[in-house]
Amino acid sequence: MSLSEAEYMVQENSRTLLRVENLKKYFPVKGLFFTKGYVKAVDDVSFTIEKGETFGLVGESGCGKTTVGRTILRLIEPTGGRIVYEGRDVTKFRKNEMGWFRKKAQIMFQDPYSSLNPRQTVFQLVMEPVKHHGIGVDDPEDFVVELLELVGLNEGHLYRYPHEFSGGQRQRIAMARILSLKPDFVVLDEPTSALDVSVQANILNTLKDIQEDMDLTYLFISHDLGIVKYMSHRTGVMYLGKIVEVGESDRLFEEPLHPYTKLLFSAIPVPDPDIEKSKGKIEVQGEPPSPINPPSGCRFHPRCPYAKEICREKEPEFKEIEKNHQVACWLY
Ligand code: SF4
Repeated sequence: MSLSEAEYMVQENSRTLLRVENLKKYFPVKGLFFTKGYVKAVDDVSFTIEKGETFGLVGESGCGKTTVGRTILRLIEPTGGRIVYEGRDVTKFRKNEMGWFRKKAQIMFQDPYSSLNPRQTVFQLVMEPVKHHGIGVDDPEDFVVELLELVGLNEGHLYRYPHEFSGGQRQRIAMARILSLKPDFVVLDEPTSALDVSVQANILNTLKDIQEDMDLTYLFISHDLGIVKYMSHRTGVMYLGKIVEVGESDRLFEEPLHPYTKLLFSAIPVPDPDIEKSKGKIEVQGEPPSPINPPSGCRFHPRCPYAKEICREKEPEFKEIEKNHQVACWLY
């Protein structure tokens, strides 16, 4: 390594696995000759994830949640900020120093078919990352069968090809591939949104079981609030590149504080018509503004029914309102 160990190390609480500090990812918007501006997909995002925890990230499509997941893993390079994993500042790692982190931190994508080579058997697909990282395995066949059983497949699937499986089974193959490296942390990026509703619950339960068996930590990204509530211990809500509220999922879903979170959650259908009627909807005007030129102050102010003068001028600080519940809003 070209940097000394001391240069990477950050003083860290022993339960914290991942610390994201002031993360920024700006994408240039190219004109014919010049860069016309930047899409601020992720703008000053901070949060921590504890070992064994599932941290959910929700928000409408285009709010930046997928970019957060990919930037944390450095699949795309951050524009600014720090990613500290197990007390080591990953943002300082050079390309040739990333091997350690690539084994520890993995990602599961929405569409497993695009990440599985159709010409490889399940055995080859699961062994590929192991070979790539030069990890020795005594009996590769036994090793793969054990992983397949862990994800709900079996020995009979070993020499079959991706096209012979359903969407849910392909997602299980993707899981086995990820687990072959014995990671500690997995970004689950809309892992069930391409699947039938009837299959979703099975996959989610398998992910929960594996988390317990292998002591995994998840970042769970989804636009589906019901699924995030079911999966996550804590949840962060994103709006236009910013996190506006973070809290323990039970508490957050029961009593959201930020006007945007209230809006988002009021759209969750409740089966009981009386409760559905009584929960009330908050009236919001307009569409989300462009992330190229986001509004000044609080980014939600053009749509917020409670906006006041200060909201247009000054960005609200992210404050702890009650234990483990933070919100960025001038109302608090
Ligand atoms: Fe609404 Fe102001 Fe709170 Fe933003 S800071 S959500 S505009 S009340």
